[in-house]
Amino acid sequence: MNKSVGGSPTERASGESPKLDQTVSAAWARARAGLRAEFGEEAFRSWINPLTLEAVRSGTAVLSIKSQFLRDWVSNNYAQRIVSHFNGELSSVGSIDLVVKVARPNAAPEDETQPQPETSKRAEEEEATSQVSAPLDPRYTFDSFVVGKPNELAYAAARRVAESEDIQFNPLFIHGGVGLGKTHLMHAIAWRIRQRTPWRRVAYISAEKFMYQFIRALRFKDTMAFKDEFRAVDVLMIDDVQFMADKGATQEEFFHTFNALMDERRQVIVSADKSPSDLSGIEERLISRFNWGLVADVHPTTYELRLSILQAKAALVGGGIPDKVLEFIAHKIRSNVRELEGALNRMAAHASLIGRTVTIEMAGEVLKDVLRANERHITIEEIQRRVCEHFNIKMAEMHSARRARAVARPRQIAMYLAKMLTSRSLPEIGRKFGKRDHTTVMHAVKKIEELRAIDPSINEDVEILIRALRG
Ligand code: ADP
Ligand code: MG
Repeated sequence: MNKSVGGSPTERASGESPKLDQTVSAAWARARAGLRAEFGEEAFRSWINPLTLEAVRSGTAVLSIKSQFLRDWVSNNYAQRIVSHFNGELSSVGSIDLVVKVARPNAAPEDETQPQPETSKRAEEEEATSQVSAPLDPRYTFDSFVVGKPNELAYAAARRVAESEDIQFNPLFIHGGVGLGKTHLMHAIAWRIRQRTPWRRVAYISAEKFMYQFIRALRFKDTMAFKDEFRAVDVLMIDDVQFMADKGATQEEFFHTFNALMDERRQVIVSADKSPSDLSGIEERLISRFNWGLVADVHPTTYELRLSILQAKAALVGGGIPDKVLEFIAHKIRSNVRELEGALNRMAAHASLIGRTVTIEMAGEVLKDVLRANERHITIEEIQRRVCEHFNIKMAEMHSARRARAVARPRQIAMYLAKMLTSRSLPEIGRKFGKRDHTTVMHAVKKIEELRAIDPSINEDVEILIRALRG
């Protein structure tokens, strides 16, 4: 399997050791791109970029990282997604092994930009005390935000908070699905406040970074400085607060910070993927605080909003994309604005490469994969429900540990269908089936594949289910 590459040395992307097979390193590069798209630039730079792929041995990818602390963090928060992305690119990779490898003194230049908590504690502390706020993206302003029915409330609320110094809604809680503009709005507020009233201290930070800094403060026995930093701001913005789910100590700390700021009539702005009441794993007292002020939601996009966004962005990426093609994209890509942007950028790149205007046919071809992913998608819950109806068993059996054939087989069929009909990864599927391991899912998929080939009645069951689910 290990093809050796001869000839001239190929260029190496960052984050991999120089001894790797080309297929493997290409797969790792794509997995990294996928992780970057999923978690965003900031998280990617902090947690994924510091990983170096050392080798792939019997299905396990060995990834090295420079400290125990980073290792633990990545292992607790990202391991499953890394496996899933890697597995999606190279199916022989079924697990990862994170190893600590302390940096050599004369490391490659790209390594120097990576965080090295073990070796440069001092530098890191300095950074932590000098900026509690994460950098803001210069593209995310109110000017570049396209307003439509689905986001007008959130936009108006954000604008109001940004334009006025007296506190009207506290906190402002913005929620909505992925890629619908929450982070964009948060940055826009921060930019506007910094521009209007530069003396006010604005801190924008993701809940994840907040937690990371808090843990680091605990570790360096420096919680006083941490508290002081956060309590000294005039405007505190915490993005993606759902990330604090089940992180008790961080929530506790945030709760106190929150109260201290509210008491002093400082503005707090929070975003999440769900409304306060729908958040799970967040303490009741925090949820009730979130409900004190204004809760504004960003709804899924409509065709009209998608088209306006595309038109606004098409003007920025240069011409070459006719309205008809924009309409086609707005019609076909319904998931979120991030995907819409990705599609537009791809079309723009294509248009500039071929040097003439693109057509709908070209768009269909260039965007084949995204378009397919946007087709009516089947959920794991739907699959479970159908399978239970078909075999006349209870939904609870999908999550139970019972191994009796009468429930175990349908459960395996449901896992198989989840793998076949959704884009969910093995670990994600496992989680939806009573927190099972991804190897259990893999086993189920293999088993049902085998049975379909030799047992006509099972094959028929599966076919009926596929037809019903595809609708
Ligand atoms: P979220 O934080 O809700 O997951 P983001 O704010 O990161 O989403 O938005 C994803 C991408 O889509 C960003 O590049 C953002 O600029 C863009 N975007 C989202 N909504 C809009 C909008 N209404 N107008 C312009 N760009 C938008
Ligand atoms: Mg966001």
